[in-house]
Amino acid sequence: MVDADQRLIVTIDGPAGTGKSAVSHRLAAELGISCLDTGAMYRCVALMTMREGIDASDASLVTPAMDAHPIDFDWTQHPPMPRLDGEPVGEAIRSAEIGRVVSIVAAVPEIRGAMVQAQRRIAQTHPRLVSEGRDQGSVVFPDAEARFYLTADASIRAHRRARQLRATGHENVEEAEVLQAIEARDALDRSRKIGPLTCAPGAILIDTTEMGRQEVVERLAREVRAIVDGAVSGSC
Ligand code: C5P
Repeated sequence: MVDADQRLIVTIDGPAGTGKSAVSHRLAAELGISCLDTGAMYRCVALMTMREGIDASDASLVTPAMDAHPIDFDWTQHPPMPRLDGEPVGEAIRSAEIGRVVSIVAAVPEIRGAMVQAQRRIAQTHPRLVSEGRDQGSVVFPDAEARFYLTADASIRAHRRARQLRATGHENVEEAEVLQAIEARDALDRSRKIGPLTCAPGAILIDTTEMGRQEVVERLAREVRAIVDGAVSGSC
């Protein structure tokens, strides 16, 4: 049983298109806990740099601008809704251009440092949380109760991402272009010096190539319950 008073941090990391966001929302609902989309936080920073006309790679410009333009979540919504300057950002953070700028922002050590602190502060007020991103199990919450790393073949991930884009109104999406963009972003995420995309030692690796979303959620929920009951070890 998952005790309602117990701290429970579950991290889900992995490359783009593994279904982390949808799986996190459903897993959080299944376990009756909150969820945190840390990619949305980096995307909000990217949006802010574009709106302000700031060079996204220049920490001396971006960090003061982050203080002037706070990012937070509306926790009354499920999943919690990301906000910039107190306003919901909606689909503005999901554009292809944000997708390009976000990896630049995410490679700046000062920005990552601020994000890590912000994510740990969130966990203090929301200690029962599914937190998804790239470095949640490796850097932000290495002491999380359960840590997962989702992966899948790149072509499947591109197919899933293209389907998701079409469902949100981007009808002219070319799967080959999506694949190229995903591979470029993954390469940047894996190669940066601070907080690179990696399967943290001790995290549970799950290849979702041949799994449906609900199947992944059920597997993760089973693993979390087993860990909470004291019976499971990692595979990375
Ligand atoms: O998960 P999502 O695709 O929204 O993440 C967008 C980008 O934000 C990632 O490609 C990565 O560059 C960055 N990111 C990160 N660390 C996280 C979450 C996201 O570097 N914890």
